Amino acid sequence: MQQAERIVALTGAGISTESGIPDFRSPGSIWLEQPPVSYKDFISKAEARQLYWQTRRNLSGQVAGAKPNAAHYALAELERIGRLQGIITQNFDGLHQDAGNRPERIVELHGTSREAACTLCGARSSMQELQQRINAGEIDPVCPQCGGFLKAATILFGQRVPEAALARARELATSCDLFLVVGSSLKVIPAATLPRLALSHDIPLIIINLQPTPLDDYADVVMHEKAGLVLSQLVALMRLTEQAGDG
Ligand code: NAD
Repeated sequence: MQQAERIVALTGAGISTESGIPDFRSPGSIWLEQPPVSYKDFISKAEARQLYWQTRRNLSGQVAGAKPNAAHYALAELERIGRLQGIITQNFDGLHQDAGNRPERIVELHGTSREAACTLCGARSSMQELQQRINAGEIDPVCPQCGGFLKAATILFGQRVPEAALARARELATSCDLFLVVGSSLKVIPAATLPRLALSHDIPLIIINLQPTPLDDYADVVMHEKAGLVLSQLVALMRLTEQAGDG
């Protein structure tokens, strides 16, 4: 990390667990109790949409109240000192932006839960307003312009990651000089293909994840630790070494 000038970080749900948002597989996850609604079901079944909004009602409380943790701030610090080229995130919680990373440096592969989107015309609107409508008892909200079903601007299972976002992510993965994975199980495609792409370009790989991942054997460094703890210490150490070098 001390030698790297153009670090790219791929972050997953694990970077936000220390902010109180459960990840996909750990105990307490909403998705374990209630498997996620697929895009096909959302479009075709009223009961799937109701289930979606029911799950979101629980989730939105957790996400809305969440604040960035030490790992998010460490990545913001990396950008501030000019060593971070970009963040590719699987998360839709917006905590990288809250920590201070510039939006143009962030690729949100799975979209954002801070905006609502129409499944028919694609129009974006305020998620806060939509959530208020749901909380007030609306059960199947539709787009005022075209009548299409409304949902958060995130990717559901069975929906493709937008090509433009994926192209930007691939570009970042092949133009960096260090690829850093933070809090991702590396089991979700296409995000999991990105560190492989970096490796195929001889770019060093560091993985910080509590549980083992399928790419551990290929990484230069693997840390099965809490991201908030490890990343903040690593970045602090980089700063100290830099300052010692300056002095
Ligand atoms: P995942 O749940 O598959 O894996 C998360 C990984 O993070 C796990 O391997 C776990 O061991 C690790 N982890 C948990 N806490 C950690 C910590 N404190 N430090 C380091 N590692 C930690 O998550 P995923 O691979 O990101 O895939 C699930 C999908 O669900 C995501 O792609 C995302 O779209 C969505 N999701 C998003 C959020 C969010 O926006 N915060 C939360 C849950 C799920």
